[in-house]
Amino acid sequence: MKLILLGPPGAGKGTQAQRLVNRHNIPQLSTGDMLRAAVAAETEVGKQAKAIMDAGHLVPDEVVNAIVADRIAEDDCTEGFILDGYPRTLKQADALEALLERRGQHLDHVIELKVDDDVLVTRVSGRFSCANCGTVYHDVDRLPKVEGTCDNCGSTEFKRRPDDNAETMRSRLRTYYKETSPLVGYYHCKGTLRSIDGMAAMDEVTESIEEIVKG
Ligand code: AMP
Repeated sequence: MKLILLGPPGAGKGTQAQRLVNRHNIPQLSTGDMLRAAVAAETEVGKQAKAIMDAGHLVPDEVVNAIVADRIAEDDCTEGFILDGYPRTLKQADALEALLERRGQHLDHVIELKVDDDVLVTRVSGRFSCANCGTVYHDVDRLPKVEGTCDNCGSTEFKRRPDDNAETMRSRLRTYYKETSPLVGYYHCKGTLRSIDGMAAMDEVTESIEEIVKG
């Protein structure tokens, strides 16, 4: 199963991707996570990407296309993958299509998570995650069951993304509507798009996604 989770920052792509990983045993390919790892490791790509990410802009298409092509070539992607945060431009979508065609593969589903802007800003502003396993939490409505301890792995280390603040979020949203939202039309025309209410309860969103992937 090869699918794309499409939606603005804070729509729940990462959280739903983690759930799909657990249920279907296929990897989550998050270009944001890959780029943050490159920034932390201070690689050439990381050095180039850092300021762009901090400003809420997009890293150049060639850079992310190359990262994704390398990652999809790895063995754990043979049975499928969940793309989270890629593609983000029409050029990336074309590059992905060409890549999959070369590999004799095709996308099964593109699932758009629709969420109102004011909800997105609130969600992203209070977001933090486990530094060990990446489980996502929120200051207001999704704290760990035991304070300071990750529900999933028991780690006591948490982190916040530098770009998860109201100011950068506004820039990320502008970028989304300008560069990424045209992909809704792109995949609609190809007949692969399904849109769901990303404002429903988290479990309901998961069930809507499951219904789509089960066909
Ligand atoms: P995310 O974790 O998906 O919200 O991504 C964080 C940041 O990484 C974005 O705001 C961009 O600066 C960069 N980024 C992630 N994925 C892409 C992509 N497909 N194309 C360009 N930039 C990306």
